[in-house]
Amino acid sequence: MKRLRRLATTVAASLTASSLAASAASAADYAVIHAGRLLAEPGRAVMENKTVIIKDGVIERIADGFVGAEDASPDDAVTVHDLKDMFVMPGLIDGHVHLLSENNPKGRLQRVEMSEGDLAIAGARHARRTLMAGFTTVRDVGAGSSDAIFALRDGVARGDVPGPRIFASGSTISVTGGHGDGTQGYRDDVAELLHQSGVCDGVGDCRRAVREQVRRGADHIKLTATAGVLSNTAAGLEQQFFEDEMKAIMDAAHAMGRKATAHAHGVNGINAALRAGVDSIEHGTYLDNESIRLFKRNGAYLVPTLLAGATVVEWAQDPETFLLPPQRAKALQVGPLMHEMAKRAHEGGVKIAFGTDSGVSKHGENAREFALLVEAGMTPMEAIRSATVMGAANLGQSDVLGAIAPGKFGDLIAVSGDPLADITELENVDFVMKAGRAYKTW
Ligand SMILES: [Zn+2]
Repeated sequence: MKRLRRLATTVAASLTASSLAASAASAADYAVIHAGRLLAEPGRAVMENKTVIIKDGVIERIADGFVGAEDASPDDAVTVHDLKDMFVMPGLIDGHVHLLSENNPKGRLQRVEMSEGDLAIAGARHARRTLMAGFTTVRDVGAGSSDAIFALRDGVARGDVPGPRIFASGSTISVTGGHGDGTQGYRDDVAELLHQSGVCDGVGDCRRAVREQVRRGADHIKLTATAGVLSNTAAGLEQQFFEDEMKAIMDAAHAMGRKATAHAHGVNGINAALRAGVDSIEHGTYLDNESIRLFKRNGAYLVPTLLAGATVVEWAQDPETFLLPPQRAKALQVGPLMHEMAKRAHEGGVKIAFGTDSGVSKHGENAREFALLVEAGMTPMEAIRSATVMGAANLGQSDVLGAIAPGKFGDLIAVSGDPLADITELENVDFVMKAGRAYKTW
């Protein structure tokens, strides 16, 4: 990939005597982007030779040609970014990550070795890599028993550490012994230490578990409607919560203004979660025609996580794999089905939001999902839309995220090639800006 010379210039504030008094309180920060090609709203046409003007982190306007921040006062800081040879588009949104962890052969030991501080530092490293890969927003859907995810979210928001905007679920809502109960295979006294406040059984307890996550600071609720691949349980992949429990979870989440998203592989669990009013389904491996009908009836999103499927199959096929026997069997069962599932859902008109399950795969490689979505039948534009316009809608954040438009956050990325011609261009993002601040230049 051709590396272009960086041409960003900061125009320092030039204070005059008369403006000195007012300057401290009123000085604004402008970022001016000169975009050769601009995909402002994925799904609509690419524009040429435009200027995006961002004031104090929020997009003010898009102007024709290459102009400056004409309404800036002499006290304001104006930074011009020359992206005239680049393809500029909205910052990417990954709707399914686990920032605090990254799968590795020592994972089960690390669970009992790592302190909250260790997890926070690991999360900061993963968050930085994710941002540098062009993902300016993520939804974290399960951080074990740790509250470090909330500290990380808030630290990133304050600007203490670089990372994407984080929407966090806290502890996954799971039945005892279910996919989101991370204590399987540990001895009882260790399991006690690893206990997660999201583990619940029965209607009343499930309401408590949801409310407990809201109290801890959750932006949304994640539940494991069915079994899963990487839990150490030979419990298949079918439904785990009963319908009354799922209904209690969705209702408790919605009553507190939170969306609920369900991890689900088996078809009965997918359909039960949709009937109970879930807002989105993660994975969706065994979805059927009835699922497609329910998705469309509810306006629910599917987050296919094809990269997770590809990653676990790769591990399972390795004769020296670190996967435990139940994990390996389930990986080989699920992985090969996910591609076809995404294709059927897409053809059936289900709304698809981009999500990778990074933390299974490596953080910072999130963009590999794009090529998999295109292999599953999406056009490059549809795949990009899933990680921008649809990604924002899936989070309930369409008013501020997902496109380059006045009033939205100044989150944008640039690549030197054309991702509509070759979607893998997005695996090498050259420029990353979040809220008007450039984190990566080329
Ligand atoms: Zn996950």
